[in-house]
Amino acid sequence: MSITRLEHETVSPEARAEGSRRLRVLHAREQIDLPGAERAVRDLLLALGRDPSSPHLAETPRRVATSFEEMLTPREFDLTTFPNDEHYDELVLAKSIPVHSLCEHHMLPFTGVAHVGYLPGERILGLSKLARVVELFARDLQVQERLTVQIANWLQEHLDPKGVGVVIEAEHMCMSMRGVQALGSRTITSSVHGLLREDPRSRQEFFTLTGAH
Ligand SMILES: [Zn+2]
Repeated sequence: MSITRLEHETVSPEARAEGSRRLRVLHAREQIDLPGAERAVRDLLLALGRDPSSPHLAETPRRVATSFEEMLTPREFDLTTFPNDEHYDELVLAKSIPVHSLCEHHMLPFTGVAHVGYLPGERILGLSKLARVVELFARDLQVQERLTVQIANWLQEHLDPKGVGVVIEAEHMCMSMRGVQALGSRTITSSVHGLLREDPRSRQEFFTLTGAH
């Protein structure tokens, strides 16, 4: 993986007063060589027996190159957390977060939903941030299993919850459009840590609510 993630805390005085904490998540990625990618797409069209100089395809290499740049570059965001003053100790679950990623075997999309849940420890998280964490790892050349594990590990490390669980259900275009042509078949993967792994009641609740079991 050619990604480094730079993270640093930015806390305003007001935010510090209310105990919120923001972690800016940036991405230093090896510079994508757009002209190089365009040339490669033109070569691919040629190799596929297409004429890249035809008016229909003239803009295609540029469009493909910029599409890949966008699909492989996560957006910067602030991970905002708050003290768990109410000592909320039940499951927090964000269901059906959209997932769009590219499989590293075929560079074809796989799309679906992620269900991300955690049992809060000392801190709780702005809910919209779970979708940004999913995107952080989805905008990459991926396999679904690794994507699932990376999201769970990252949340475990940065939020330090009592438990965290991630379920991803996705359809892979490399399965739907080619090969076995299993249209509509979904692959389900999961990764659980802490009490969601070890405590049978919490684990059961998580998988029942996600509908994965
Ligand atoms: Zn594939």
